[in-house]
Amino acid sequence: MSTVLEVKNLRKTFGSHRRKGQQLIAVDDISFTLAAGETLGLVGESGCGKSTTGKIILSLLKPDSGQILFDGQDLTRLSQRELKPYRRKLQMVFQDPFSALNPRQTIGEILTEPLKIHQLSDRKSNHKRVTQLLEQVGLDGETLHRYPHEFSGGQRQRIGIARALAVEPQIIVADEPVSALDLSIQAQILNLLSDIQQQQGLSYLFIAHDLAVIEHISDRVAVMYLGRIVELTSVKTLYSQPGHPYTEALLNAIPKPEPGHKGQKPHIQGEVPSPLAPPPGCHFHPRCPYAEAICRQTQPRLTDLGQQHLVACHFSHKVGRFSPSMADNS
Ligand code: SF4
Repeated sequence: MSTVLEVKNLRKTFGSHRRKGQQLIAVDDISFTLAAGETLGLVGESGCGKSTTGKIILSLLKPDSGQILFDGQDLTRLSQRELKPYRRKLQMVFQDPFSALNPRQTIGEILTEPLKIHQLSDRKSNHKRVTQLLEQVGLDGETLHRYPHEFSGGQRQRIGIARALAVEPQIIVADEPVSALDLSIQAQILNLLSDIQQQQGLSYLFIAHDLAVIEHISDRVAVMYLGRIVELTSVKTLYSQPGHPYTEALLNAIPKPEPGHKGQKPHIQGEVPSPLAPPPGCHFHPRCPYAEAICRQTQPRLTDLGQQHLVACHFSHKVGRFSPSMADNS
């Protein structure tokens, strides 16, 4: 599969650069690629930098340093005017479809707006195109005169997806697109996104905190912790042989249906530290059952364990060999 997007050494901080201790490192030197027709899941706890990463890719935020390479262009270096054709190619689907849709506009107006902005349709063909978009996302094409509040949460998310599709993007950044929906509706929206991807060869950067959702939709997964990618691999490898203690703990935190499950494997201990004062060395060390002295001093590099299974841990070989007595580390 050919690469459509390459993120290189992206870094983003918030707050004063001069006042020591007031700088929040939201994204800390992350790199990854996205292939045509691929879904890359970006997972981690709240505040790990995954949504900030999505916003930088969409040029809604400017990074401090690093590159976003799309179609041979570094998007971080383009002016607002130069960005316009690229904005069309990279679209977003939001978590809360209701607040993302203008309540005073009909669905027809909402879907016609991006067509006008990017001059993709004329007055005569707008109606046909909007009807086609609604039908593509499983809604009745005749509903275009109705308002957002007349639709259910799942239907509004379908409208949000139709709006993103209107401008014929190559990449969709979906930020927690199903987390506000009921479980049964979540599955319908995930299946819809998969069907559209197969029809159109779209690439998705799919941001979520829910590992079951990530497993359902992703080809590869990047796990983020306090602004850094700590593991990046295929969905199959991640769920069967995690290489990072944080990934292992996230997977162990998924409720197990089997009777007799005693939960003796490592679960995540403690809270995520403040990104204003992340722990030195490996940021995960205060919560890690495998931590040793080196972890408190030296940041582990993201290293390929083989077959493009990237892990940032000094002791990845220990993962999966946990004994409960190790849990007192913190
Ligand atoms: Fe745990 Fe050390 Fe690996 Fe960090 S580097 S995840 S603290 S074992």
